[in-house]
Amino acid sequence: MRPFGTTIFTEMSALAARTGAVNLGQGFPDTDGPGEMLAAAAEALAGGANQYPPLAGIPGLRSAIAAHEQRFWGLTRDPDGEVAVTAGATEAIAAAILALCEPGDEVVCFEPYYDSYAASITLAGAVRRPVTLRPGPAGRFEFDPDELREAFGPRTRLVLLNSPHNPTGKVFTPAELELIAGLCREHDVFAVTDEVYEHLVFPDAASPHVPLATLPGMLERTLRISSAGKTFSCTGWKVGWATGPARLVSAMLRVKQFLTFVNGAPLQPAVAVALSLPDSYFTGFTAGLRDRRDRLVAGLADAGLAVLPSEGTYFVTADIRPLGGTDGIEFCRALPGRSGVVAVPTQVFYDHQEAGRHLIRFAFCKRPEVIDEAVRRLKS
Ligand code: PMP
Ligand code: GLN
Repeated sequence: MRPFGTTIFTEMSALAARTGAVNLGQGFPDTDGPGEMLAAAAEALAGGANQYPPLAGIPGLRSAIAAHEQRFWGLTRDPDGEVAVTAGATEAIAAAILALCEPGDEVVCFEPYYDSYAASITLAGAVRRPVTLRPGPAGRFEFDPDELREAFGPRTRLVLLNSPHNPTGKVFTPAELELIAGLCREHDVFAVTDEVYEHLVFPDAASPHVPLATLPGMLERTLRISSAGKTFSCTGWKVGWATGPARLVSAMLRVKQFLTFVNGAPLQPAVAVALSLPDSYFTGFTAGLRDRRDRLVAGLADAGLAVLPSEGTYFVTADIRPLGGTDGIEFCRALPGRSGVVAVPTQVFYDHQEAGRHLIRFAFCKRPEVIDEAVRRLKS
């Protein structure tokens, strides 16, 4: 694991703390999630829910996860066997890869990728086969279907797909998903989907979010992962989940029992409450986030950056070349000193770093006044 060093999020948040810069690096909200959820956690904590929950999670949360998947995505899950609670999406991703991959197996993913993917693939002794996302004519990130086809081979074990996608803000369209699904069927491989931003899609996206598991022939081969962190603004709680056919969920649990075993006893009932909130919570949260995206995008453009479209997530990507920048890492390390703002260099999320050298990522999951202050600093 030595080459993995310290994550960019840790480095950049420490830099923000040290310099007093506005932190638009690590993706965490600066306001709390729904009051009902917080009250339920406090009540559970005071009410004795403080010992090991069952390995797969408390029944009330598993039922709430199943009901949520039915309500939003039309997926029917048996809470007993097809749903497992994990220590954030991060643990679910790690446990899924460790469970499904033998050493030497290949994992097809898209770059830039969330940093834990490379680490988990390495821990499993597996090999990543990244397919590069590149801005197309309108700035939207796209992949070359031939490159995707070539990434599949006899050793391919699974596809790891993140949509809505961090860091680009891309939402994969049904046509793109069908290409991926077709290759999964053709090569008879599993899919692990990271859908932590499932609700955070803006109305101007090329398409709404579609879980890969809903495509023909995919339900039986897909482990779908999500988390409370992003949707309910509680990234520090680390309550996530995986859903899928019982054979995949139980394989993942076999690994998970030796990673953390369980976590978040008093938080689990609270996340069940959050998942059961009316549709208006989900649409309201996304609408608020969209306003903040628009605010930051306008400000970044005003400050002279070339901003790429963000269709969802907490993030927007900007090209530093109009400001004379060439290397995002250098640019981001200097930015707190130059302007008092922290961003994240996208290049660290690639194997082919050249493709992202000039790109940096900003988080807009912050209060409007914080975004305005960051913009003011960047402009000056
Ligand atoms: N996947 C993606 C794409 C993410 O951006 C994050 C960061 N929240 C995670 C997984 C990890 O989620 P969690 O904090 O629930 O482990
Ligand atoms: N998911 C968050 C991001 O992309 C950070 C998570 C972390 O710090 N590991 O910014």
